[in-house]
Amino acid sequence: MFDSHGRQITYLRVSVTDRCDLRCSYCAVPGRVLLERRHILSLEEITRICGVFADLGVRKIRITGGEPLVRRGVLTLFQNLAGLNRLDEVTLTTNGTQLGSFADGLVKAGVRRVNVSLDTLDAARFKAIAGRDVLEQVLNGIAVARQAGLSVKINMVVMTDTTDGEIDSLIRWCGMGGLDLTLIEVMPMGPAKLPVLSKHLALRDRLERRWRLTPLCERTGGPARYVRVNETGGRLGFITPMSANFCEGCNRVRLTSDGILKLCLDRGDSINLRSLLQAGATDEDLKQVILSAVEGKPKGHDFTREPSKVSPQRSMSAIGG
Ligand code: SAM
Repeated sequence: MFDSHGRQITYLRVSVTDRCDLRCSYCAVPGRVLLERRHILSLEEITRICGVFADLGVRKIRITGGEPLVRRGVLTLFQNLAGLNRLDEVTLTTNGTQLGSFADGLVKAGVRRVNVSLDTLDAARFKAIAGRDVLEQVLNGIAVARQAGLSVKINMVVMTDTTDGEIDSLIRWCGMGGLDLTLIEVMPMGPAKLPVLSKHLALRDRLERRWRLTPLCERTGGPARYVRVNETGGRLGFITPMSANFCEGCNRVRLTSDGILKLCLDRGDSINLRSLLQAGATDEDLKQVILSAVEGKPKGHDFTREPSKVSPQRSMSAIGG
């Protein structure tokens, strides 16, 4: 499946809920009205849509949210997706609060790798960012996941007020623990303001003054560019939607928990697949609609506009990050 810019779409990110047990300052919109349950895709509908995407050439599916592990029955979804044998990988992005109790079930359902979002190792700062005092629970979840055999990658959102010391602590902790770390520039979506771009632009230089970084050629099929941190031996990734656009290599589309196919994070809502399902669309009908929607995937995002001009006004927790 290709878009009109010649990009092959092989990666689907599926949000299974717009609910989350954390309230991260850059993600959770205060007072946001949550979707009514009757508007959310059932697990069977999600499985069916994923099967259609797999038929169309999607090879990797990432389950996200909101917080995906708060969706009731989510392990059943992983088990269902494991039955779609055209997929290379089904994976998960989580805040880690529930990982301790889900890790074994995820492994049994065939999940091999998870991304855990973790912005700081300081408990007070964690509470200030996420609204809950659960850093220990997240760290325990990561430990349990690793014991269960899951490969864990840490994603840290770099905000305007993130200090270099916090980044250094995570680089050290991940490097010593054998975990990959990816630094993600905060995007002006939902409650997040337009970040100070010069700070993002200078991050790599500042890190290079404190760490010996060896560029790595390897890519993992996503937007991250990697270096090796010589002092720790750890791999460090940079995802730079603000300072260095990477849309020319974009291979992904998103499905929201209410069934909207989103072709680009920064662009307006796209096709409502849930309405089509409910109107009795066949898999063949869905394929035609998806193919023609993907054809029109926008060339790229421009998050450097003022947040009020960034479409949509939905936050990552509502779209599925
Ligand atoms: N709850 C799960 C988690 O925490 O990973 C999955 C959903 S969360 C919306 C997915 C990712 O989006 C997280 O890593 C989060 O930090 C990131 N995110 C949310 N808002 C963002 C923003 N404005 N800019 C950059 N990343 C953001």
